[in-house]
Amino acid sequence: MDSQLRLFFRVKLHPNFVVELFFINRIRMAFKSNYDIIIGGAGASGLSLLWYILQSDALKEKRILIADRSLSPATDKTWCFWDDADMPFSNLIHHTWHTLEVGAFGNRYVDQLGRFRYHCMRSVDYSRKILALAKEDPRVDLLESDIHSFHEVDEQTSGMVTANGTYTAPFIFQSALKPPGLEDMKLDISLKQHFLGWEIKAERPLFDPGRAVLMDFDVPQKNGVTFVYVLPFSETEALIEYTLFSAELLTDQEYETGIRDYMTDRYGLDDSGYEITRVEKGVIPMEDRRYPAYYCNRVLNTGTVGGLTKPSTGYTFTRIQRQSSEIVHALENNRPLPDKSGSDYRFRVYDLMLLWLLHNHPKTSVRIFSELFRKNSFDRILTFLEEKTHPGQEVSIFSSLPYIPFFKSIWKMKHRIVTGA
Ligand SMILES: Cc1cc2nc3c(=O)[nH]c(=O)nc-3n(C[C@H](O)[C@H](O)[C@H](O)COP(=O)(O)OP(=O)(O)OC[C@H]3O[C@@H](n4cnc5c(N)ncnc54)[C@H](O)[C@@H]3O)c2cc1C
Repeated sequence: MDSQLRLFFRVKLHPNFVVELFFINRIRMAFKSNYDIIIGGAGASGLSLLWYILQSDALKEKRILIADRSLSPATDKTWCFWDDADMPFSNLIHHTWHTLEVGAFGNRYVDQLGRFRYHCMRSVDYSRKILALAKEDPRVDLLESDIHSFHEVDEQTSGMVTANGTYTAPFIFQSALKPPGLEDMKLDISLKQHFLGWEIKAERPLFDPGRAVLMDFDVPQKNGVTFVYVLPFSETEALIEYTLFSAELLTDQEYETGIRDYMTDRYGLDDSGYEITRVEKGVIPMEDRRYPAYYCNRVLNTGTVGGLTKPSTGYTFTRIQRQSSEIVHALENNRPLPDKSGSDYRFRVYDLMLLWLLHNHPKTSVRIFSELFRKNSFDRILTFLEEKTHPGQEVSIFSSLPYIPFFKSIWKMKHRIVTGA
């Protein structure tokens, strides 16, 4: 059966015995196309939202449809994040580091985290767990289909158009499609965080599994701000990613050469000393434009297409958790949905300044990163990146950095800064 035409359908014969059947969606559609909540996109944000909804007592009567072009858990991403609180999926965390390292200009800055821990979640574990919960729950239908668009049906209802037909609900949350109107938002700087990583298994112990290398800038800086990110999972296993903040993507071969050269220089490894067990490749937008909160009436954008990516770092995962929790809180209390996409003004200005520097002065940007990690504790930097610092702490961080480039960036971006960023 064509996977695009499947709808998972459960028959409970006995509480412990659930049979899963695949019905051709056209048959099922004939008797069910209206839901209380539709989630379009079953990636990080769609699945997080589903998880939060399923935990809510107040929403236990809701009938939910979750749709994605593929509902097979994929090993394509590792999501790293830091938090000092208990995370909802803490039992799924693949690895945690207590110490972080940054390298620049031949120096290594190493700091043991106090307040935070740096965690890594594998997309395959996360999807497998939440999709399994969804399949066991009679309130949830799963639809494997291409989503084409969303539209308003009437004031109280909106629709999701898929390859298998249209589904309606009073609340739709979508993370699959770029929202209309995105192209019209003010945009001065459009960079990308792009990377290719190899998960490797080395023949001999090379790594410290308690210490992750957040950014190692001691690599050639010829195509924009470039660094290597190393996540060791054991003494012999690590994910090594060659990463750039720049406008243009590289060829696969260029990223691979970057990884190989790094492994030789840093660990004395040649091709015979390791095997590649997984490849991870990605592009994350680093832009100064705001994202429209709504796709159309009653269709809220979530995740990356909801503008949740922090423009100057690409980190999104923790913000997705926060957005999901806020959405569920609003639904439980019949309150307006959280429609503030992006950061508060102060942090938007900082992101604008950093983006301008990354775009126009890559070498200076590396110097700034180096000073940042040399002069501040990593806990404080992570608190700042999480946008949880207060103005006094921010003054102290900025006063530890070369200030002339920042004045330049403020001058160049003044048209944005004075108009609300
Ligand atoms: C490789 C990679 C690594 C990352 N690592 C980190 C990290 O370490 N930390 C961090 O904070 N952020 C990270 N990010 C950024 C961000 O957290 C992830 O991109 C995250 O997956 C975003 O979640 P999302 O739900 O918005 O999008 P996605 O997870 O991409 O989910 C969108 C879903 O929509 C589906 N879809 C798209 N179009 C259609 C369509 N037309 N019809 C049907 N379905 C469709 C897709 O199949 C997908 O399942 C990473 C991004 C990438 C690409």
